Amino acid sequence: MAASGEPGRQWQEEVAAVVVVGSCMTDLVSLTSRLPKTGETIHGHKFFIGFGGKGANQCVQAARLGAKTSMVCKVGKDSFGNDYIENLKQNDISTEFAYQTQDAATGTASIIVNNEVKTLFNPAPAVADLDPRFYTLSDVFCCNETEAEILTGLKVHSLADATRAALLLKGKGCHVVIITLGAEGCVMLSKTEPMPKHIPTEKVKAVDTTGAGDSFVGALAFYLAYYPNLPLEEMLKRSNSIAAVSVQSAGTQSSYPYKKDLPLHLF
Ligand code: ATP
Repeated sequence: MAASGEPGRQWQEEVAAVVVVGSCMTDLVSLTSRLPKTGETIHGHKFFIGFGGKGANQCVQAARLGAKTSMVCKVGKDSFGNDYIENLKQNDISTEFAYQTQDAATGTASIIVNNEVKTLFNPAPAVADLDPRFYTLSDVFCCNETEAEILTGLKVHSLADATRAALLLKGKGCHVVIITLGAEGCVMLSKTEPMPKHIPTEKVKAVDTTGAGDSFVGALAFYLAYYPNLPLEEMLKRSNSIAAVSVQSAGTQSSYPYKKDLPLHLF
């Protein structure tokens, strides 16, 4: 901020336009596929140390937008504290009132980020000699009856056929198998549901089923990403419902429903 003083005398005084009084925390971040239960030890696949704390976060954001900032805080006289002061400086934040104390350690926050995004594989168009790695590397393997026939060499025209095909696909190393069955819904099997289970869908007046399979797979991807804790069976019931909406009007994407047009219980 520029200030002018007495007539004939000019000086520039730099004062902070944004002064934040608040916390500086060192974030200890572990990325895991799920949250551990109480007392449980699980594997993480990545770990990093970051700078956090609500006060400092706000100050850094203001500084990065170009504000002249000053952070009023106290961290420990330890390596985390030293690094933090350096981080404030790197962000062009005044550390004139950032103190260090011998009496306490710099605050830390243990953060566990559950960042697994599951791999959903739709083998379309199917080929009989599919690279076997596709069966084992995807978390969820989802195909329709025709694709199941090509992949397994079995006839798949009924629920009983789909059950056999699902078991065969599991034998090829799939973790979760879903075979869509048009108006019959789908069949699933998973680690917790090792025998194929039929997930029927509602009876609707189908006008045009083109793209129903993609509507189903897209809906399933949505639930896997945004509702990862829903039981798979519930995800499939909901995906069935969404695909059932799509078959009731003509066209492919033009028949896909928007969230605002769907019942709340699907979210
Ligand atoms: P397409 O190739 O037309 O995209 P697909 O053969 O890949 O379709 P289907 O198994 O026919 O896929 O259908 C996918 C899902 O759509 C079914 O699991 C079901 O949820 C829904 N569906 C399809 N047809 C109907 C129908 N007639 N009534 C209700 N739901 C349907």
